Amino acid sequence: MPENATSEQVPITAKSPFELRVNLGQNVPDADARAALASGEMGFLHSFTTGSAVDGPGVRVVAWTAGCLFRCLYCHNPDTWTMRNGMPVTVERATEELRKYRSGLKTMGGGLTVSGGEPLMQHRFVLKLFKAAQTMGIHTALDTNGYLGDRLLDEELEAVNLVLLDIKTWDPERHRHLTGMEIGPVLAFARRLAARNKRVWLRYVLVPGLTDNSDDIAQIAQFTAGLGNVERVDVLPFHQMGRYKWQELGMDYKLQDFEPPSEELVERTCAQFRSTGLNVH
Ligand code: SF4
Repeated sequence: MPENATSEQVPITAKSPFELRVNLGQNVPDADARAALASGEMGFLHSFTTGSAVDGPGVRVVAWTAGCLFRCLYCHNPDTWTMRNGMPVTVERATEELRKYRSGLKTMGGGLTVSGGEPLMQHRFVLKLFKAAQTMGIHTALDTNGYLGDRLLDEELEAVNLVLLDIKTWDPERHRHLTGMEIGPVLAFARRLAARNKRVWLRYVLVPGLTDNSDDIAQIAQFTAGLGNVERVDVLPFHQMGRYKWQELGMDYKLQDFEPPSEELVERTCAQFRSTGLNVH
């Protein structure tokens, strides 16, 4: 894609989130972007993708938002770190796009997942889109790192049917190293969701040499099982599908030579979660 591509030239749908997309919102004046974030009338999206069977129940449409406050060493979509890389999309346009899939989503027991990036960077837009989805009878799932969970009021959580919560690692120092941010707000959001008995699926990205510390995994498993509202845990094996994005963006990728986890490591990790009574996939 040429560096000066505009959102008019690029379709709102992508084959996958692994399409590299940059600078699609660069022509939006700052004042307009600020107003859009404040009102939620417009958001910045990497794309919509369809047919996902791994981002919540059933077969789902996923809206990938642009903008993230974490800087995960293993991120496979670093083009979504910057909000202005995303395409400016009004709530109406996003709703229209979603409407196309309404009957299919219902037939396949699916729904809309908003992922990213970090969707709560644009929480007002996401809430409006979720409310529009629910009005159409479409199930909503929020895939979040949880750090900005405070942005959602208790009543606003009603627009979210399911939270896919990422816990990146347990040890606070390792969490800072891995994400650049503190773990405290993530755990606080997890506890708040538990107190409200909100449905949650936990997601854990397993990277050999980075997130495979057995003590950390045991602590996360214990914490997660103790919450009482986590329906399932997805252990997601690290892969290198995003490596080319780091290269294309000229970013320093520290995991260049990291390998996906072995079957044994995946099994050991799943067993650690399972041993606390959690339902693991
Ligand atoms: S939270 Fe997700 S999008 Fe943000 S840096 Fe981490 S992996 Fe990437």
